[in-house]
Amino acid sequence: MTCELHAPGGIITVTAGSHVARFVGIICWLGYMPRSADGHLLVHALDAGKNFLPLANPPDLPTDTHRVVVIDPGHGGENTGARSVADNHVEKEFTLDWALRLRPLLTGDGWKVVLTRTNDVDVSLADRVALADAAHADLFVSLHFNSGARQDQAGLETYCLTPTGMPSTLTRDYEDDITRVFPNNAFDGRNLQYAVRLHRALLEETGGVDRGVRRARFMVVLRGQNRPAVLMEGGYLSNPLEAQSIAAEEYRQKLAEAVAKALRFSNPVEDRTVTNAANQTP
Ligand SMILES: [Zn+2]
Repeated sequence: MTCELHAPGGIITVTAGSHVARFVGIICWLGYMPRSADGHLLVHALDAGKNFLPLANPPDLPTDTHRVVVIDPGHGGENTGARSVADNHVEKEFTLDWALRLRPLLTGDGWKVVLTRTNDVDVSLADRVALADAAHADLFVSLHFNSGARQDQAGLETYCLTPTGMPSTLTRDYEDDITRVFPNNAFDGRNLQYAVRLHRALLEETGGVDRGVRRARFMVVLRGQNRPAVLMEGGYLSNPLEAQSIAAEEYRQKLAEAVAKALRFSNPVEDRTVTNAANQTP
């Protein structure tokens, strides 16, 4: 059973027995699997409140001209991140390049931009959060690339913190205690609204495979944030084809354009469904 919810923010599609919901065509992972009973589609109250409600409502985006965004190039220094199977370069180089390409685009659009690092240094996760506090940032965006055990794993993922009470999409080896309340949980609704906007622009600009807007609780760089915060994964360095794309400057420029486009409120992302042949329900 599949149901469509038509809301001012866009159309949400939900299917019984699937954690995957679609919002204006992009994948959003739910905390709990909807089920059908007596001709009704039942969704968990937390998914209704923490996922459907923020999606259904037009996003609450900043309108003033003094907006501060912290862009966080993942890893750095001895913390290299994942290694590319294409050219042997490492994640920390690509995340910094993405951020440096992005900075002038955002500045041109009226954002005050603060980078957590501008060269090859290892900044602790706590320091990255503290830097956003010191900058009085309105938004925090962390940039990463992915790596998987299987080489065929590919696509784009965007993360925000899991709302309290809800299981995470990704846990890694972290004990996913659903009762935990983190500072960033005060921004559950706006986290998702930004994540969806960013993820959608990423798919539109790159034409990449949609692995969805996902939830995680182990990401220290997100959960301590006193502002909306999103972490983006711009492709798999372990996938030969994507690693080749990431190695190309044009692709990294597209990643930067995507983030800038998502954060350009005077010229909002067009309200249309992403038509992507590569879209698959995982
Ligand atoms: Zn990373």
